[in-house]
Amino acid sequence: MAKVGINIATGSLQKEELIVGIDLGTTNSLVAFINSNQEPYALNDMDGFTIVPSIVHFTAAGEVIVGNEAKKHLIEDPQNTVYSVKRLLGKSFSDLKNIQQYFGYKILDQETEGLIKIRIRDKYYTAIEISALILKELKARAEHYLKTPVKRAVITVPAYFNDSQRQATRDAGKLAGLDVLRIVNEPTAASLAYGLGLDKNEHQVLAVYDLGGGTFDISILNLHEGIFEVLSTNGDTFLGGDDFDKAIVNYWIFENKKNLDEVLEDKSLSQWLRLKAEEIKKRLSFEENIVLQENGWQLNLTQSKFNELILPFVDRSIRCCEKALADSGLSLTEINNVVFVGGSTRTPLVKQQVKNFFKGTILFDNLNPDEVVALGAAIEADILAGNRSDILLLDVTPLSLGIETLGGLMDTLIPRNSKIPTKAARQYTTSIDGQSNIKITVFQGERDLVSENRKLATFELKGVPAMPAGLPKVEVGFLLNADGILTVMAKELRSGVSQAIEVKPQYGLTDNEVEKMLMDSLENAQKDVETRMVVEAITEAKQLVYLTERFLEKNSEMLRSDEMEGTRQKIENLASALATNEKDAILHHHEALNEFTAPFAERVMDKAIAIAMKGKKI
Ligand code: ADP
Ligand code: MG
Repeated sequence: MAKVGINIATGSLQKEELIVGIDLGTTNSLVAFINSNQEPYALNDMDGFTIVPSIVHFTAAGEVIVGNEAKKHLIEDPQNTVYSVKRLLGKSFSDLKNIQQYFGYKILDQETEGLIKIRIRDKYYTAIEISALILKELKARAEHYLKTPVKRAVITVPAYFNDSQRQATRDAGKLAGLDVLRIVNEPTAASLAYGLGLDKNEHQVLAVYDLGGGTFDISILNLHEGIFEVLSTNGDTFLGGDDFDKAIVNYWIFENKKNLDEVLEDKSLSQWLRLKAEEIKKRLSFEENIVLQENGWQLNLTQSKFNELILPFVDRSIRCCEKALADSGLSLTEINNVVFVGGSTRTPLVKQQVKNFFKGTILFDNLNPDEVVALGAAIEADILAGNRSDILLLDVTPLSLGIETLGGLMDTLIPRNSKIPTKAARQYTTSIDGQSNIKITVFQGERDLVSENRKLATFELKGVPAMPAGLPKVEVGFLLNADGILTVMAKELRSGVSQAIEVKPQYGLTDNEVEKMLMDSLENAQKDVETRMVVEAITEAKQLVYLTERFLEKNSEMLRSDEMEGTRQKIENLASALATNEKDAILHHHEALNEFTAPFAERVMDKAIAIAMKGKKI
């Protein structure tokens, strides 16, 4: 493998490095690149499409299909066709309890804080794995087009993505064989695509209005000396073009005098209607009225009826704009520009309402709204590659910093390439009852197992009052100052016990060693992520066994003997699966145990156990 020159001070790579920009969207994804004229362009497939629907289909033969071809299977095979997976990225089941019915595929019904899993036939996937399949498709497209291996990328995420969602995006990139140099906020990327932020002398305030397929995001950015400062963000993770489609479907069901529940029950029919609604909606961006009859359904829609159907959704987005504006502390007249992002901003009513709200601003809407984010990501990639001498790169930390969690896993708090100074904090809990000393071990590096990373420091939080497993709340904070000194603070929030230390992560580390660590992590990326998933499945299963056994002990009088016996049997099955180290077998028996105990666990569940299941364990 070729050596990569990395500037330790800036984290940038040598010039020849090829870096692509990727918009990993809920509905659609794209990959873009900068051509020799310094212009960004989205890479298209053989049919000329730049958009790759973020849809993955698994065939019965075990084949994986991504994009437009996969979208066709939404109708006849919804259980094996995964869409909107970005909604699940970095989330646990407890984050999304009530939306299972939104998905046509099976999401594991586990009350754990572990990452959500999707079952396709006998296999279990995390949202990271599915996202990686989409990224692999984009990587392949870029390699085909550019005729060279593509290994590095900038990937965009919504401004409201939290830490765990950003980490999951990085992991997906890693699993796809990409070194993710930076995660960039979508509104920042979109502004860059319009050339905003490239001139150091400009000072502007921007509102970026992004209405996509399933999510809405409004960001107010202050642009000063080439730096984007997020003044405020607002939005709705369940608002977008999908809602327009659903409203149209409901309208058609009513107009055709069909029973709503019966139609929704028939997954193939409702998916067909969904796709039809989207098609008609898109046509209404350019046509006045639609008259259509298909499969015995009247699929008519006038512009004014459509506007009436979607007005509540557009209004909701405007209310988010009001809130974002209020939070920014600015008045309307202080907003200079509005940037339009997302396919749904093509709908005339949307554009009109946004224009009405942000009166007197300059509108940026002449680029393709579903491409702007990817185009901006390509510009950011170009900047990171050091191709723009006029743009100053800020100091960054060359390697990730994190702590060890249960199973010997690396939990990154400050990802590599983060601008410094920076800080991060996260909450953890314990896995064993009555732990009074809690050990925190700090590591540096990109590998998933801490044993492969560089140990920086270790210390113990002593004198934590004895509590059941899962009850202590340990907040770990990292502060990396401008001189590269890292302060690690740990505090058990219930008792107030705290401890802090200082380390210098770069101390005694040569440029060559940093390079070697980065190369190792690239070479082992796939293996590492897979190992981590197995370790996670094992630790989660062990926790479940531990909690279930304790549950049986405590509640033996309240359980029937068949319930006790059945649970013991299921625990035994899970224990034997654990011995195989097979991820899918472990997850299968985990699910079986959970499903078996769920009905009576709910009956006698005591609160302590419910609480005890939350948070990553250290
Ligand atoms: P995301 O960022 O969520 O992946 P996009 O920005 O690609 O989504 O937007 C996808 C949404 O845009 C879909 O709901 C799609 O139906 C809608 N869309 C695409 N083209 C049009 C159009 N011409 N008119 C109205 N809506 C459109
Ligand atoms: Mg988008």
